[in-house]
Amino acid sequence: MSELRVPFLDLKAAYSELRHELDEAVLRASRSGWYIGGPEVESFEADFAAYTEAKYCVGVGNGLDALTLALRALDIGAGDEVIVPSHTFIATWLAVSAVGAKPVPAEPASASYNVDVASIERCITSKTKAIMPVHLFGMPVDIDAICTLAKRHGLAVIEDAAQAHGAMVGGKKIGSHGDVVAWSFYPGKNLGALGDGGAITTNNEAIASRVRELGNYGSAVKYLNNERGVNSRLDPIQAAVLSVKLKYLDEWNKRRQNIAAIYSQALAGLGFGLPNEPAWAEPVWHLYVVTTPGRDVLQARLQSAGIQTLIHYPVPPHLQKAYQPLGLKVGDLPVAERLAKEVLSLPMGPHLGMEEVDYVVSVLLACA
Ligand SMILES: *Cc1c(COP(=O)(O)O)cnc(C)c1O
Repeated sequence: MSELRVPFLDLKAAYSELRHELDEAVLRASRSGWYIGGPEVESFEADFAAYTEAKYCVGVGNGLDALTLALRALDIGAGDEVIVPSHTFIATWLAVSAVGAKPVPAEPASASYNVDVASIERCITSKTKAIMPVHLFGMPVDIDAICTLAKRHGLAVIEDAAQAHGAMVGGKKIGSHGDVVAWSFYPGKNLGALGDGGAITTNNEAIASRVRELGNYGSAVKYLNNERGVNSRLDPIQAAVLSVKLKYLDEWNKRRQNIAAIYSQALAGLGFGLPNEPAWAEPVWHLYVVTTPGRDVLQARLQSAGIQTLIHYPVPPHLQKAYQPLGLKVGDLPVAERLAKEVLSLPMGPHLGMEEVDYVVSVLLACA
């Protein structure tokens, strides 16, 4: 076994590049005397709302809470159905389950990783209350078509943008197409904190204040509780860190875009399934995912060449033990099941060097 030469993602390098500014931000928050809420959180919320072209941003504890509180703010709960992608990180489904609603999976089109609009339409029933599309791997879904469909059926749209900070559709940033957009600042995301963090963005003032209240024990005025909320707030130290990192997000996304362009050009015509890039989409390449029926062999060959790859995701939510109660079986969602067997995420990130990219490409060429 050779030593690891290309890590999948180098989080420590992200810290090192901005070390002086990040250390300064952490100290500033520490010395401020505000340890819950306060100016660091308010300032980040204003900056992130502006960045995502949304009127409001409310910080919460993490991405899963952002999704869950968004559903609660729309009064979605027991007896309701929410359409989710069959191929996604399980958090999308868990949020729906957390409010007592039922996740109803819609499949991607066969050449895409993102949920397909026609497949969403087939899932609509009289119980459907919302559509929860995911901008998976940093590639925007066809959100305009989804919002049009939702409007026609009187449904809410809650976007899971945990992997899509900075992504655009027709020149407009993800952040306010749907009724509410949920974000994660988990360290490995395109905009990542030094710990957990999350937010919602929206143009709807009522949704924004309801999420803020729900995340603060259901209270807008101290010791007066309007409903049974939770404790889920964005930490001021993380907000200070995120304010620094937000300034570099576009530049770091550009580095990801350069790497993706190299992968797409070098790997074209070799028989791998490559990411589908619609003309209207400006993706931010949270992940660069290829497909091949020989995935496990390819991953082993890359591993022995010192290249770390990951699988997003090896078991689709409907086949997880956690979702046995839904009664879905192997064969029920064939696209998601095929993707689980064939996807492979190549090294990707703003600190992946060009020499490393060239090396990954050369090993892939030798494997093709
Ligand atoms: C990371 C992620 C989440 C959850 O975010 P956390 O901050 O880890 O709770 C939700 N959905 C998707 C698609 C994600 O990638």
